[in-house]
Order: sequence, then C-alpha cells, then structure tokens
Amino acid sequence: MTTIQNIAILGATGSIGASTLDVIARHPSRFRVAALTAHRQVDELANLCRRHRPDTVCVADAAHAPRLRERLAEAGVGCRVLAGEAGLVEVASLPEVDCVMAAIVGAAGLRATLAAARAGKKLLLANKEALVVAGPVFMETVRASGAMLLPIDSEHNAIFQCLPPFASGELVAKGIRRILLTGSGGPFRSRSRAELHRVTPDEACAHPNWVMGRKISVDSATMMNKGLEIIEARWLFGASPEQIQVVVHPQSVVHSMVEYADGSVIAQLGHPDMRTPIAQALAYPERIEAGVSSLDLFRIGHLSFEQPDFERFPALNLAYAALRSGGAAPATLNAANEIAVAAFLEGRLPFLLITAVIEETLAGLPASPLATLEDVLAADARARVRANQIVTRLKAHAA
Ligand code: NAD
Ligand code: MG
Repeated sequence: MTTIQNIAILGATGSIGASTLDVIARHPSRFRVAALTAHRQVDELANLCRRHRPDTVCVADAAHAPRLRERLAEAGVGCRVLAGEAGLVEVASLPEVDCVMAAIVGAAGLRATLAAARAGKKLLLANKEALVVAGPVFMETVRASGAMLLPIDSEHNAIFQCLPPFASGELVAKGIRRILLTGSGGPFRSRSRAELHRVTPDEACAHPNWVMGRKISVDSATMMNKGLEIIEARWLFGASPEQIQVVVHPQSVVHSMVEYADGSVIAQLGHPDMRTPIAQALAYPERIEAGVSSLDLFRIGHLSFEQPDFERFPALNLAYAALRSGGAAPATLNAANEIAVAAFLEGRLPFLLITAVIEETLAGLPASPLATLEDVLAADARARVRANQIVTRLKAHAA
C-alpha cells in the first residue's frame, strides 16, 4: 500500500498542467491535488479548483486575486488564496506538499521552482528555462537540500530512463559516450530559409506531433527548444557540450538515446504524449497507467533520422556557443529568446529575426560568472532590456 502523495502544480492552467491533472485524476488513491497556480487565467483556475479541490490556490498576477476569490465563492469552493510571486514561492514550499510539478513557462518560474528545490521536494521539472538560466545555482540547491529532481521534458525523461539507475557524477565514469538528443525538427523542418520570411505565429505554433503552449511551440519552430534542451541536458546529466548530439527524428517516437562505451545504444520510445513522462516521474520508481495507448510499430512502419541543419536553424549554434561561454551567457540567450518570441507572437518581429535578436544580445553582453540567484536575475534583467532595444530598432528598420 503506497501512501498518498500531495501534489502542487505550478502553471496548472497550461498544457503540462492539464496533462498532469489528467494523470493524477486516474489515480485518486495515489495522488491528491494540494495546490494549483496560474498566471492570470482566473476562470480556468477556479474551474480546476472546483474539479480537483486543492487546499491552496495562487494567482501570480496579484491584481487578479479579488476576481479569483469571487469565482471561488460563486462555485462554493473554500480554499486558501495566495497571490504574487511570494505566493508561488509559498506554494512550492508548503510543508504538506510532497511533490511539485514545475510547469510555469519561462524564467518567470525560476523563483518558485528553485523554492521547491530548496525545500527538498520531489521536483518534477518541466520549466526547462529555470535550469537553463540558473544551471549551477539550481543544481547546487538540489544537491544541498537532497531534493529529488525528475525531468519531465520528454527527451530528458527518456535519457533518465536510459541511464543506469541511481547514476550521478560524470558521464564518462559511467561508461557513457554520448547522449543522442532527438527532436522532430519542428513545423518548418523542410522549408527553405527564403520560405521562412513570412511565416505567421499560427503556422509556427502548428507543431506536427506535439500539442504545447505557444512559447515552446515557437521555440520548436526555430529549434531554440532543442538549443535550450542541450543546456538542460548539460546540467541534469553532467554532460559536456561535445557529449550531446542533436538528432532530427521527424516521427517523434524515439524520445532520446544514450550511447555506451561498448557501442550499445539504449532508446526510449513512445507516443508523443506528455502524460507518459509525467506518469513516469509521478510514480517513480513504480509504473502506472497514463491513459496512453500502446505503440503500434506496424502502423508507424519506419523511423528516420537526419543531421540537424545548423544554417537554416542558427539557434542550435547559439545555444552551443552560450553553453561553451558559460556564466551569464545561457541566461542571456534565454532572456533574449523570450523577448524575441513574445515580439514575434505579437506580430512585432518577423520569424527569421528571432535568432538575430538573440545573437546580437549575446554579442553585446559579457558572460560574467553567476554565483547567486541575484546574479542570475541581474543577468536576465540586463538581457531583457538589451533585447527589447534590439527588437525596437529592427522594427523601426522594417517599417
Ligand atoms: P503553457 O503556456 O501552456 O502554460 C504555462 C503555464 O504557466 C500556465 O499555467 C500559465 O498560467 C503559467 N504562467 C505563464 N506565465 C506566468 C508567469 N509570468 N507567472 C506565473 N505563471 C505563469 O506552457 P506549457 O506548454 O505547459 O509549458 C510549460 C513548461 O513546460 C515550459 O517551460 C515548457 O518549455 C515546458 N515543456 C512543455 C512541454 C509541452 O508539451 N507542453 C514539453 C516539454 C517541456
Ligand atoms: Mg522536449
């Protein structure tokens, strides 16, 4: 008989939040929803509270807290309402919470995700940007508190499943040669650069295999998502940039692979459905139903693999370069990407200039060392100011 796990979901109204609640609802004797958070989607959040009855709820944009209270009162739901970033941090550290799903999008999730690590929780990490911006600080926090860090990103969850159990330390010492990080290539895999000039936000968000939030969908289209994942793998698995190879795999069935010194390559396969990695991490080290059907290999027929095209997708090179520069460079890369992607989604920046903004931001700012959370936040803020200036200038040129 397993004891019930109390779960907090940071970013409950998003795509990962919905998949997490779906898996939890299949196992009422194992999991209980203890707390939910959202940015400002109070109607959706109140609906989730009605269905899942958490003890605590938090709206990150404090201006929306009164409306959330109203909605909860109308629905007859009595739960404690918190607000603002301090509320998110409190949710992540609640003593009654055993497990935190970190599924806020972007560096906005950093403080709360780090708070869960500091509190020594079982931490399910979807919010890759938190690890990209704060890598060494984040991993040191996990080490010091003894938090159990489980990757949710499908590739990193796959790699985790392909590694020897309880592995820690350098890859080479574990007899591992390389990590093969797969990616579908996104919606524009076979388009020429000339064809990419005029693509719209809706085209960029129409991913061939995965249903995701809009920011990560655009990241998949530029392949910056794979770039962020290279950096994520570096910190999660102690891999050097040379040990991480990106493999384009359009079917999204092999979610990543680990190659050993003896030539063995171990892969994890499955449908492109985030409920699989979420269930793997929620139940770890046991296995539970996730609502995902069996993989029909006869219908899939064949799997193919291609080299990534670094010229059409410069985001990959930018990520490798930021990782090699170290210090503040990954935080700068991430902040510039968030600013450029938001500008693209709002129709203020053409698709091909997203990586141009990132490249110029990186070139103009030093890769100063990051020792504390304050250093990370300062680097993030500096890069946002610079990237916004570049977006404004490029927009004026285009007009
Ligand atoms: P989403 O946009 O669907 O949801 C984001 C959630 O974060 C929402 O609940 C939103 O309310 C909340 N949020 C947004 N801005 C916030 C802010 N400033 N403060 C507090 N909360 C805020 O995103 P998603 O697709 O669910 O992705 C979430 C994270 O998981 C991202 O880091 C993404 O890279 C990662 N991820 C997602 C997938 C996927 O399939 N969706 C796969 C792998 C990794
Ligand atoms: Mg991924």
